[in-house]
Amino acid sequence: QAKGKGPGQLCYHSPEMSGRARERLALEADLRGALAKGELSLHYQPQVALDSGALAGMEALLRWTHPTRGSVPPNAFIPLAEECGLIVEMGDWILETVCRQIRQWSEAGIAPRHTAVNISAVQLSRGNLFDSVRRALDVSGVAPGQLELEITESCVMLERELSFKTLADLHALGVRLSIDDFGTGYSSLSYLQQLAVHKLKIDMSFVRGMMDNSGNAAIVRAVIALGKSMGLEIIAEGVEQPEQARYLRAQGCDVIQGYLLSKPMPAVAAGEYLGRYAQQPPIF
Ligand code: C2E
Ligand code: MG
Ligand code: MG
Ligand code: MG
Repeated sequence: QAKGKGPGQLCYHSPEMSGRARERLALEADLRGALAKGELSLHYQPQVALDSGALAGMEALLRWTHPTRGSVPPNAFIPLAEECGLIVEMGDWILETVCRQIRQWSEAGIAPRHTAVNISAVQLSRGNLFDSVRRALDVSGVAPGQLELEITESCVMLERELSFKTLADLHALGVRLSIDDFGTGYSSLSYLQQLAVHKLKIDMSFVRGMMDNSGNAAIVRAVIALGKSMGLEIIAEGVEQPEQARYLRAQGCDVIQGYLLSKPMPAVAAGEYLGRYAQQPPIF
């Protein structure tokens, strides 16, 4: 990145910065081809109800297997895909792929109640998300209630009016809505009333600190109380330890997701997990 120092001044590029810029450009070019080359795939992570141990859902998480770099984490390429607009096309592919997967699990009799897809702010503000969702549902024959969309608090900040309208339309269609990373974004609580969501996901940063940080524990309890009083389902993400699950259950949290249950799995392994789970739910 060049830093202007006023008229007549030289722009200064540090070797490190231009290296990083080159790196970004290369990654962006590769990303443009990734979809067509079949380098993208979806992994699935289970969500389990704390009271019954029943499987409550699956979350689809995007993976990119780069031919030379190997596995590139979503946090390294989704922001890039958002900046260059590629996320809209990628998002459509994700919705279609997940709906096809739900259909396949339904036919095998192992579909979870809901399967969640992460939605980017750019999809919500720029793409025609409502049409994309309806097309993916139509083509696969999946019922809207089987699909859950995860949005973040900052998701609705870009094009507020349009985003709220789109989410209201999706809600009317019967799709479930969930607020991801709850408590970490910039927003007022009033949007929780305006947005008809079904579910709050407590961000894993709070869950992680919860057992030895009274502030984090207080936030977790407050989110559970707030969500409950609004009739929302509460899920905690990033649960790794049995004692975290026990604490969350004692506080009235409904569902957990995290490495304690399973890491995100490729589609085939996720199907096997669903099949096994139907026979023998784990006990906490
Ligand atoms: P997220 O939606 O909040 O997903 C949760 C992240 O936490 C995932 O990382 C998941 O693998 C990880 N995780 C789950 N359980 C645990 C645990 O017990 N411990 C720890 N340390 N981590 C856990 P991942 O897959 O790397 O995804 C990162 C973020 O990338 C996601 O955060 C989401 O914001 C974004 N993302 C992933 N897939 C998609 C997608 O298909 N579309 C869009 N727009 N964004 C996506
Ligand atoms: Mg998510
Ligand atoms: Mg999250
Ligand atoms: Mg996140």
